[in-house]
Amino acid sequence: MNRVAVSCEAAVNNRVSDPMIPVMRPWLGAEEAAAVAEVLASGWVAQGPKVAAFERAIADTVGAGYGVATSSCTGALHLALVALDISHGDEVVVPSLSFIATANVVRYVGASPVFADVDEQNQNLCARTIEAVLTPRTKAVIVVHQGGTPADLDTIRELCDPRGIAVIEDAACALGATYKGKPIGSHSALVAFSFHPRKVITTGEGGMLVTSTESYARRIYRLRDHGVNINAAERHANPEPVLEQFPETGFNYRMSDIQAVIGLVQLRRLARIVANRRELARRYQSAFADIPGVRTATDPHYALSNYQSFWIVLDNAFPLSRNDMLRKLMQGGISARRGFMAAHLEPAYRDQAHDDLSVTEHLTRQSIILPLYHELTEADQDKVIELVRESARSS
Ligand SMILES: *Cc1c(COP(=O)(O)O)cnc(C)c1O
Repeated sequence: MNRVAVSCEAAVNNRVSDPMIPVMRPWLGAEEAAAVAEVLASGWVAQGPKVAAFERAIADTVGAGYGVATSSCTGALHLALVALDISHGDEVVVPSLSFIATANVVRYVGASPVFADVDEQNQNLCARTIEAVLTPRTKAVIVVHQGGTPADLDTIRELCDPRGIAVIEDAACALGATYKGKPIGSHSALVAFSFHPRKVITTGEGGMLVTSTESYARRIYRLRDHGVNINAAERHANPEPVLEQFPETGFNYRMSDIQAVIGLVQLRRLARIVANRRELARRYQSAFADIPGVRTATDPHYALSNYQSFWIVLDNAFPLSRNDMLRKLMQGGISARRGFMAAHLEPAYRDQAHDDLSVTEHLTRQSIILPLYHELTEADQDKVIELVRESARSS
């Protein structure tokens, strides 16, 4: 009995003294805690003035007219499709190579997701792969900036705009990235961000839909709050009793002031976080530049990534399989991840017809996402680098 107790303790101690290097860790601290305490003391914990301030701050940061805070990026993407009146019988082109929410939201409105393949260099949809799957029923395309690396928006718009196909950006990962010198969020009518802890800044859970089209903004503000025509803050500010109305069926996708105030503190750190991520990415890129069989995430010529996910793709010149490399990293105390998932390979989408997705399949099977977070030390990053370099020398 004694021995069991001792070995349990040893296991616990071991974990504390020798933690894994995580793939991502949010940069949160005392400022966020103090801001939350203030909101709790105020008594207004649901959607209120802090959400409004966070919406203004994000919209200003990305150069959009309006921000509508939501409980998640998934909720924001759903609202974007509702705002475009997309429904049964419509098709929406999405990459299979994305977090599954990108495809799921299309099903939420009763429309059909149509999977397009991606560009091998940046793992994003491009005009060529989208054009291959267009039909007369295509109403929209959800362009994902995968891992924070922007897709080539202008060439996609050149394809879609003349055909009346809406472009929605799933910028879940891309806050702080830029396309042709301007922030992601300023280019399209509807752009959705995520504040999940896996992204560059976090509110615990949360999202935001930004738009510069006033009519979309008005409708989306209502839709995320049960469709009500007047929000709680406006009702409280009114000296007369207010009788609200529900002009259409909405949702509860509200963010709380507790979350928003964390976001306001986090947003002040965005520029530092992105600059630091880019520097850590540069260290990975130069460390792996001479290894045969390893290709790394890089900036496309038209954009600057925020490197929300730093991926490497292994090919046949690399001596280890992707899964063996992942295992080796794990055994070395490094928590890496498989590359981006492919929705069409999941049971939820297995029965759905699709065109050739060979680049998607290659990338999802051969990619690894390496640790990259604000507080990653160069010493810890060097451990990751050394393990990959050492594996490249094995045979
Ligand atoms: C994280 C992510 C989402 C979902 O974001 P939530 O805020 O968790 O709903 C959607 N799309 C992509 C590409 C993502 O990476």
